[in-house]
Amino acid sequence: MNVHQIIHGLAAAPGIAIGPALIFDPVAVADIAASASSEAEVARLDAAIAEVDLAISALEEHLRDAGKVEEAEIFDAHRMLLGDPSLRDRALALIVDDGMGAAQAIGVAGEEHAAEMLSLDDEYLSARAVDVRDVVGQVQRRLTGVAGLAERLLTPAVVVARDLGPSDVMSVPRDRLLGFALGGGGLTAHSTILARALGIPAVVGLGEQVLGIADHTLLALDGATGSVQIDPPAEEMTRLREARAALDARALALRADVGLPSVTRDGRQIALVANAATPTEARAAREWGAAGVGLLRTELLFLERPDLPDEAEQLALYAAVAAELPNTPITVRTLDVGGDKHLPAFPLPHEQNPFLGWRGLRIGLSRPDILLPQLRALLRAGASADIRIMLPMVSTVDELRQARALLEQAKTQLTAEGLAQSASPQLGVMIEVPAAALNADVLAREADFFSIGTNDLTQYTLACDRGNATIADLYQPLDPAVLRLIAMACEAAHRHGRHVAVCGELGGDPVATALLIGLGVDELSCGASSLPLVRAAIRAADSDECTILAQRALACANAAEVRALLG
Ligand code: PEP
Ligand code: MG
Repeated sequence: MNVHQIIHGLAAAPGIAIGPALIFDPVAVADIAASASSEAEVARLDAAIAEVDLAISALEEHLRDAGKVEEAEIFDAHRMLLGDPSLRDRALALIVDDGMGAAQAIGVAGEEHAAEMLSLDDEYLSARAVDVRDVVGQVQRRLTGVAGLAERLLTPAVVVARDLGPSDVMSVPRDRLLGFALGGGGLTAHSTILARALGIPAVVGLGEQVLGIADHTLLALDGATGSVQIDPPAEEMTRLREARAALDARALALRADVGLPSVTRDGRQIALVANAATPTEARAAREWGAAGVGLLRTELLFLERPDLPDEAEQLALYAAVAAELPNTPITVRTLDVGGDKHLPAFPLPHEQNPFLGWRGLRIGLSRPDILLPQLRALLRAGASADIRIMLPMVSTVDELRQARALLEQAKTQLTAEGLAQSASPQLGVMIEVPAAALNADVLAREADFFSIGTNDLTQYTLACDRGNATIADLYQPLDPAVLRLIAMACEAAHRHGRHVAVCGELGGDPVATALLIGLGVDELSCGASSLPLVRAAIRAADSDECTILAQRALACANAAEVRALLG
């Protein structure tokens, strides 16, 4: 595979990495034989597990000391996986009953565990299977002396692997890991999350073909577009190096603009807020000048645990996020599970079409035991912060009415209990189902605000699964069909004096900023790292020009024409 070739995967972490390939394909240790006795193998296994546990806890502590709470939590979860008694018990049985060596036994036990997670057909849990392999791989390396990434990556390189665990990413000095290209992996895998947090360019989901790349082949990886160039010609290298230098210079310059207002050249104020899921992300948002949180995803608190979080835990999270961005609006989305997100505490039934099934607000309304405590926690957090409540996956006004009735019930309960609560809580809806956009006029009479979830709106409008790589070409948030629905939602909202935000990924794409302003959007909400570029795009825009641009985009035949128009 060493003639110039471009392969495409999923854009996992932005940035351009140029350098020699290092193929990291840890060897299987299944055939390493047992030592003298099963007792000796069990002792070796226990010693290796203890050493790995120590190493992980040291890494976790180091991250916590550096204020990297989220990254630290990944490794806290790793210690729990490693300490899972069923993993050790199974390995023990394989040693004692089947005569396996410690390394092989833990490998087999780990693979069984990972296979169980993969069989649940849940994107989130599938991504965790990599974490099991990661901890098991560390134990195996202790037992066999087989080199890990840290021992292989001695000079700067672009790492090519079937998959990488978070400990691989953390085990190597940042200046040696120029970027990584994975055959597997996923956008929610921990290695991807770390790559984004650490600014390591990454492309994932490239398929097994990546392992055919020869060691030391020159690679140029663009984590923003999801492309990997193999042996790029000299002129392409020059172009990429210039692009990278321009990106670096721009990032530096934009840092200086953090405090500038997000206002167009002609004075139109656009609220620039952030998407977040944790207080750490809210802090990053503040550092990048966000004027609040436009979408607090609340799923994380529910995901990595066997039980449901109670009202007090939820209240603590909302209060902690609000404390990071005091005196600003914090828009919190009620639990949005279903689709590809499952809760360990509340397994969902197998469905033929989960994205069209029991998801988002549909679950909340049929399970008030889940939604009511969340609404109570939000109302209580609203006693001392500007908390706005947002409902996911609304299809009809009846759902909004039912949710409002539940909110009223929560208010009455809190009053009866004498607990402080928000004086006038706002209740808004996400516009992410085409029916909600088409019926926006009806919804706008009763919803306090709209927030357009372009990720789902694109998926449902184009009938195109947002996670299906086979039909990824069809998934175009700039398709005129999607833009028309955005325009309809904005017009209806403004007719009723409501505010409209965009909180899907399109809201963080600076190429689309002027178009969204022209379509009538009042607020843009995006990941903290996108804030500077979107702010710059707002400040470079003129509202009349934006309106003309939007009209022209709405007249386009397809997304390609819209993209060409945006340049
Ligand atoms: C969306 O659908 O655009 C959105 C913001 O929600 P999520 O990506 O969490 O489904
Ligand atoms: Mg959504």
